[in-house]
Amino acid sequence: MKTYTCDAVVVGAGPAGSMAAKFCAKGGMDVILLEKKAEIGAPLRCAEGVSKSWLDEVGIKPEPAWIRGDMKGAIIKSTKGTTYQLDESKAGNEVGYVLERHLFDKALARDAAKAGAKIMMRTSCTGVIIEDGKLVGIKAKSMGEEIEIRAKVVVAADGYESQVARWAGMDTTLKLNDIDSCIQYRMCNLDVAPDYCEFIIGSCAPGGYIWIFPKGEGIANVGIGVMGTKCTGKADAKYYLDKWIAEDPRFKDAQILEIMGGFVSTLPGLDETTADNLVLVGDAARVIDPITGGGICHACRTGMYAGELLAELNKTGDFSKKALQPYEKRWRDRMEDKLFRNWMAKEKLATLDDDTIDEIIKLIKTSEITNVTVYNLLKAIKEKYPKVVEGFEDLI
Ligand SMILES: Cc1cc2nc3c(=O)[nH]c(=O)nc-3n(C[C@H](O)[C@H](O)[C@H](O)COP(=O)(O)OP(=O)(O)OC[C@H]3O[C@@H](n4cnc5c(N)ncnc54)[C@H](O)[C@@H]3O)c2cc1C
Repeated sequence: MKTYTCDAVVVGAGPAGSMAAKFCAKGGMDVILLEKKAEIGAPLRCAEGVSKSWLDEVGIKPEPAWIRGDMKGAIIKSTKGTTYQLDESKAGNEVGYVLERHLFDKALARDAAKAGAKIMMRTSCTGVIIEDGKLVGIKAKSMGEEIEIRAKVVVAADGYESQVARWAGMDTTLKLNDIDSCIQYRMCNLDVAPDYCEFIIGSCAPGGYIWIFPKGEGIANVGIGVMGTKCTGKADAKYYLDKWIAEDPRFKDAQILEIMGGFVSTLPGLDETTADNLVLVGDAARVIDPITGGGICHACRTGMYAGELLAELNKTGDFSKKALQPYEKRWRDRMEDKLFRNWMAKEKLATLDDDTIDEIIKLIKTSEITNVTVYNLLKAIKEKYPKVVEGFEDLI
């Protein structure tokens, strides 16, 4: 069997894996980045919406090639039809881009390659190698051939379906309540705002929301995420999305160009994201915003944090769980409070009826919030409807 040897092997060339590989390589490590698919960033499993604020933080310069639309704002709508339009003047950096995700992911992998990472496409990790109780690498199938990659440290960047951490003995199981199931249509012939991302909340999407993210020329990503446990009878994500589309006149001439389904975890991160010689990043670490399902920025941040630390640790060769703790601390210090607050907010939102959601949107419309963030929205809600934020007031 062919055996490769390197300092770090990164499983999965999504945003988290490419960022981890880039920063490991930049720090002088010999890195192999594996991707099981035949194309990085495809097929699409994303609504492609991001805010702009974090890009600078992780050193990503916006490139026209992967920006499909520069949004002027967002529209938040209740199932009953109350609408709040949020402009850039109020939303600032929270307003963002609609990406071409297949180009964005490739650009990040390109940067990893530029830094010196070796990319192996059509190479699927199939297991881990444990010798004398120690993780020493991974097994993979590369273009049909069984191979081994021996490495000092393994980075699990294998996304929502992550198996690497489980193979290495960590419990990454999600409960049904911690999963939103999603379906999205790429639709054309739509009569929707070309530069506003729209979010529709309430009983039209139990425990989640419907999104309409414009892609230009009457085309948009139209999708839904729902909490399975909140759906009634046999209704699923597709049922609720089709129902909304059938009742919204803007879709009267719409046609579907592409369909995709997927899942997002709604946990505020795993309790442990490191083990001896193993680091979990991005969706594999369940570091994703529980309320929006936005995970690209979290994947990039955790990937960068892991890569920077691993390059530092490579000087001594100590990749023990203890040595990896600065990674746990860094991502938790940066993101955990917000993830936890949004997780609590999501749990509460899922219990509210349409009348209350309508009242909350009306309240936000009339309140004097100059900088609209989830935090400031929750602050306004706390004043008028303290019950809605009961249990996590101290985070607001
Ligand atoms: C329907 C939907 C809509 C979403 N919309 C948004 C959005 O609008 N904005 C946003 O910020 N986030 C969104 N997300 C979440 C976002 O897509 C993820 O958080 C993000 O992709 C996480 O990046 P990652 O690198 O951790 O994982 P991924 O992007 O999933 O990358 C993991 C990679 O690992 C590869 N892989 C898996 N197993 C193996 C293996 N055994 N061997 C080799 N390779 C492997 C996969 O092929 C994949 O390329 C959405 C998710 C879904 C499902």
